Amino acid sequence: MSDNEKAYPTVSLLINGEWRAAAGGETLPVINPATGEVIGEHAHARQADLDAALEAADAGFKHWRTVPAVKRAAILNKAANLLRERADDIARLMTIEQGKPLGEARGETLGAAGTLDWFAEEAKRIYGRVIPARADNVQQIAAKHPVGPVAAFTPWNFPLNQAVRKVSIALAAGCSIILKGPEDTPASVAELLRCYVDAGVPAGVVNLVYGVPSEISEYLIPHPVIRKISFTGSTAVGKQLAALAGAHMKRNTMELGGHAPTLVFDDADMKTAVKMSSIGKFMNAGQVCISPTRFLVQEGAYEQFVEQFVAAAKAIKIGNGLEEDTRMGPLVHDRRPTAVGDMIDDAKQRGAEVHLGGKTADRPGYFFEPTVLSGLTHDMKIMNEEPFGPVAVINTFKDTDEAIAEANRLPYGLAAYAFTSSMKTAHRIGQEIEAGMISINHLGLALPETPFGGVKDSGYGSEGGSEAIESYLETRFVTTAAI
Ligand code: NAD
Repeated sequence: MSDNEKAYPTVSLLINGEWRAAAGGETLPVINPATGEVIGEHAHARQADLDAALEAADAGFKHWRTVPAVKRAAILNKAANLLRERADDIARLMTIEQGKPLGEARGETLGAAGTLDWFAEEAKRIYGRVIPARADNVQQIAAKHPVGPVAAFTPWNFPLNQAVRKVSIALAAGCSIILKGPEDTPASVAELLRCYVDAGVPAGVVNLVYGVPSEISEYLIPHPVIRKISFTGSTAVGKQLAALAGAHMKRNTMELGGHAPTLVFDDADMKTAVKMSSIGKFMNAGQVCISPTRFLVQEGAYEQFVEQFVAAAKAIKIGNGLEEDTRMGPLVHDRRPTAVGDMIDDAKQRGAEVHLGGKTADRPGYFFEPTVLSGLTHDMKIMNEEPFGPVAVINTFKDTDEAIAEANRLPYGLAAYAFTSSMKTAHRIGQEIEAGMISINHLGLALPETPFGGVKDSGYGSEGGSEAIESYLETRFVTTAAI
């Protein structure tokens, strides 16, 4: 273990402004996926800790909702500046616990600061409206109020990016929050929350817990203090949590899985298509909900695309994310290589051709080789379920109708990509593909100022753009007659 890895902290819970151990003293280990070694531990919350967090979030909300928007914004801007100052240390922690290359971790941390700044400004743009009344002496106002304490659940693939959206939007809106962070990558998220606390967010307004995910969600979602749920993760878990939220009449936002179709037309700029597709596919070892996954290449461009894409994938150096020349790190935990490997074996047995990779890398840790498959059929698991790993599946199509039909075949509808030089084709893609986010001729998704969310089984609600704050607000209508 290097000195860098030895410096991993013991991660505490954050409850009512205090960093503390779990009431029962329990902890869970944290593993470096690049080595498979235990590098530290995090506190493991049980019911007593959750009760304390609920009490804190309740009191925190009652105060925070009264803090003027400009002041909330100033605190969030300060948190963003702290995050920028601490970016190098936080990125290092993220790489050690999550595996991604240091450059990606640093980019994510700085991006999180940008998200904080953007939602700080949104706090000042929470407008109601005055509705023309039917009588002279009546004033009708629709006012926006924060919905209340939020329970949020974020995953390990983008530890900061996922958490910063939920926490910043909640705080901008005037809500308090209990975040159940990702147990696999707890330290970087704790350091993010430290920025909010150090910037002056009052005690109880942000709280952080870790533990058994189902135990925490099943306790927090029905609890009367909690008024809003936000979850990012798999469609299967999202459906369970949305059902629980529905049973208790709680507002919720669901950012779930995808299986992004990526359409490459004969008239595409091939250099751009290959470059963008390979960067998008292998970023974060493919553990990205908007990762380009089902490549559909028009017949005339197919051979050229496969040849160039395989060459780009072959050039990717895998390794420990702390090493400077690493372009792709390991998968996050020991379950991922098994899950990805099973999908590839199933595809191979059913006749898929392997152009590259297809197996775990021969080294310690949870590495999987960049993989390219073709000749896929609809009965293969990988053509229907999210691989969530460094695997590209490439098939051909004849015409736009066929490509759009295949793109819309699955129940998912998160991201979609297309490469074409035809405005007419681009227009059809934008109109006809069933996805919450569509990016044509570049990788242009997931900016703080643009909507971020899915349709169909990929969930509902947005955690980007001006739509995002709406779901943390409720509308109250007040009509007053001056008599
Ligand atoms: P997993 O289902 O165990 O966990 C995925 C995430 O959901 C984790 O953050 C986990 O803490 C959370 N989770 C699971 N059950 C929960 C519950 N009952 N209540 C609250 N939170 C819960 O799976 P995994 O092996 O870690 O990842 C596998 C799959 O999860 C991937 O194939 C992918 O589809 C999905 N995933 C999606 C995203 C995303 O950004 N949409 C991120 C991570 C994982």
